[in-house]
Parts: sequence; structure tokens; C-alpha cells
Amino acid sequence: MSLLSVAHLSKSFDGVQAVDDVSFELEPGQLLALIGPNGAGKSTCFNMINGQLAPSSGSVRFDGHEIAGMRPRDIWRLGVGRTFQIAATFNSMTVLENVQMALLSHERRVFSLFGRVASWKEDEAMALLDLVGMSAHARRSCAVLAYGDVKRVELAIALANHPKLLLMDEPTAGMAPQERNELMSLTARLAKERNIGVLFTEHSMDVVFSHADRLIVFARGRLIAQGDADAIRNDPRVREVYLGTGASFAPRAALNAGDAA
Ligand code: ADP
Ligand code: MG
Repeated sequence: MSLLSVAHLSKSFDGVQAVDDVSFELEPGQLLALIGPNGAGKSTCFNMINGQLAPSSGSVRFDGHEIAGMRPRDIWRLGVGRTFQIAATFNSMTVLENVQMALLSHERRVFSLFGRVASWKEDEAMALLDLVGMSAHARRSCAVLAYGDVKRVELAIALANHPKLLLMDEPTAGMAPQERNELMSLTARLAKERNIGVLFTEHSMDVVFSHADRLIVFARGRLIAQGDADAIRNDPRVREVYLGTGASFAPRAALNAGDAA
């Protein structure tokens, strides 16, 4: 049984078929890239899996549960993590405090960062920061972090919930090419080590082809192709969809060219 099994998933917004009868599977430890031009329905698909949007029809099975239409918090509790869940208080706390907060939230505790409480879960939080290469920044305020470092802290926060599935919608947006590659190799390593399934979107074809185990391609709400990097690179339908967008399908070519899509 797959970790995530999406079947005949659809969503329409008054007449616009944003996601149209999409089906795919994701296995534990696998990095699955969802690519496609702007407006293809990628974010809508993500938001139906994380509970932000209720599907018009179709099924989302995660780890033995039907989660389509469930509330985001209940889906998160089952082990679906996502990045970009930065709390409003993020910038007012240190790196370490943010990760401690996420660990405590995982245990559903209500707490305040005063007195003895401040040392709770410190070792575990430090271990997570170590994992993402941010332990040296633990005591710094998140407000002063470089952009790429915020992304690493986000990843540590997502991992604090011990997710089985991680959803990353454009995790590298606004990053330089080298930072993109670093964040995605870190994600790939963690996914393998912890057997986490990862579904992500990414504009740079170079990053996608270097790090994804498998790709699915959306165009106008429909899934038009799936396979490994070689299969997708050579797929005529995919090439047609990307024709004229400036995306490069040559391996590594996008590295120095910046954002390829
Ligand atoms: P992508 O993430 O691939 O760029 P989206 O899922 O954001 O694509 O959008 C897919 C289509 O659905 C687009 O035509 C978009 O305008 C439309 N859409 C997305 N969200 C909404 C919404 N909340 N209300 C109306 N239309 C929407
Ligand atoms: Mg999007």
C-alpha cells in the first residue's frame, strides 16, 4: 500500500477546472516532484491534500486513512507536515525557541516560554537544528536570519511533528540556484534517512531533475505525464507544454541560468 494515494481528484472554482481527475501514488522515502506551468493546478492539488481545500470529487488516502475533506489540523496530526507554516510569532523568537515550540505543539501542550519551560525539549530541538545545519544559529533571533536559513528552520519545524509525508509547495522560491540545490539535497537525505515521502513543486528544472526520484506533470489541471527524470525530459507532451516558457530540459543547464521557469 502506498503512503499517499490520490485517485480521481478534482476541484473546480466556479467553472474553472483547476484540478481535473488526477491520480498518482507516493511511496515512503520517495521525492516526488509536481511540475507544470503557472496555473496548472499544483497548489490546488497540494491544498486538497493538506486540507486547506475540500475536493469537488475524488479520494486522497494517506497511511490508511481517507483524508479528503478533513480539517488541516486533523490531517497534520496524522503525520502530514508542510513547510511554510511559519507562525505569526516566528520573528519574535530565537531559532531554538521556534523548534521547541513545534515539538511542544506536536505533543499538544499549551505552554509559554517562561521560566523552566524554556528548557523543555531543548536537546531534541538542538538535534533537529543539527540535522538541518542550523545548530550554530540556535540562539539567534529568527528575525535576523538569511533567507536560506529561514528555510532550514522551517524544515526543522516541519520535522518536529515526525511527518510521514512532507508537502513542500515551492520551497525554494526566492532562493539562488546553489541554495536551491542545497535545500533539496538536504531534504532528499532526510527523506531517505527517515523514510519520509516528499511531494514538492519547483520551478528550476535542474533542481527537479537532480533531486526528484519521480515526477508528475500537470497541465491545465490534468496529469499529462509521470515517470523518472529521463522519461519526463524526453516526453513530447511535456516538451510541448514547456515550449516557449524558457525552461531548459538539458541536464544542469539551468544551474547558471537561474530560474528556468
Ligand atoms: P499552480 O499552483 O500550478 O500555479 P493553482 O493551483 O494555483 O496553479 O491554480 C490553478 C487554477 O485554479 C488557476 O486557473 C487559478 O486561477 C485557479 N484558482 C486557484 N485557486 C483559486 C481560487 N481560490 N478561486 C478561484 N480560482 C482559483
Ligand atoms: Mg502554485
